Amino acid sequence: MIQLQNVVKRYPGGQEALSQVSLRMDEGAMAFLTGHSGAGKSTLLKLIALIERPTRGQITVNGQLLNRLPKRKVPYFRRGIGIIFQDHHLLHDRTVFDNVALPLVILGYRQAEIARRVRAALDKVGLLHKERAQPVTLSSGEQQRVGIARAVVHKPAILLADEPTGNLDPDLSREIMNLFMQFNQVGVTTLIASHDLELISTLRKPILRLEAGKLLDTGAPPVAQAEA
Ligand code: ADP
Ligand code: ADP
Repeated sequence: MIQLQNVVKRYPGGQEALSQVSLRMDEGAMAFLTGHSGAGKSTLLKLIALIERPTRGQITVNGQLLNRLPKRKVPYFRRGIGIIFQDHHLLHDRTVFDNVALPLVILGYRQAEIARRVRAALDKVGLLHKERAQPVTLSSGEQQRVGIARAVVHKPAILLADEPTGNLDPDLSREIMNLFMQFNQVGVTTLIASHDLELISTLRKPILRLEAGKLLDTGAPPVAQAEA
């Protein structure tokens, strides 16, 4: 579950990036976050992932009130979250396998368990046959799928994606969104920032709209529920 109550974010020296944002996503829900560049989409995702802290307001994620979560508990908290960026941040001097394994290596998993989980994650994104490849030899869609495998390899309860299809053509974008839908179908709470309204409006999931840091009232309550 993700809940924001009257959240304000002001960066040092800046204007309010988010103003009085309240929303709730139930466990297992999926929603899109849309709005123009600068509307606050990335900021909202960063607050949920504790990459940034709110200026005011309360944020609860996976049952934990984040406001007072001490720094030393942040790494443990992050295990519950998988993050995907537009430019996937893959390491180009390592194989696909090693890129996906990285979070597990950091978490201290044993070799055999790492191999098992990495292959399961690569299988889910359809790239098991590329485990020995270097990321540069892959297409941009494949690289993004490696980024997704890396984000889900530790089985997070929540997936956050920031413009995951920003660099992809419409067919590949749809493919990537379908992948997210598949993860959501097995229970992963999924929030995706995207300005591709044409695509996301066909996917039948709630769309939260940000405009200049404010969540617009779209008629529906700012709540995204899991499908029964
Ligand atoms: P979006 O993801 O919708 O493009 P952002 O969350 O990146 O929007 O940005 C929202 C606002 O906050 C913008 O005005 C942006 O310039 C500002 N902003 C974002 N990150 C920072 C930062 N680290 N320092 C100062 N201002 C920032
Ligand atoms: P944006 O384009 O929205 O600014 P970036 O891809 O540049 O997003 O990354 C946003 C910020 O989050 C960067 O400052 C980056 O260092 C940080 N970051 C990226 N991944 C992680 C992570 N797993 N944990 C903590 N911080 C991260």
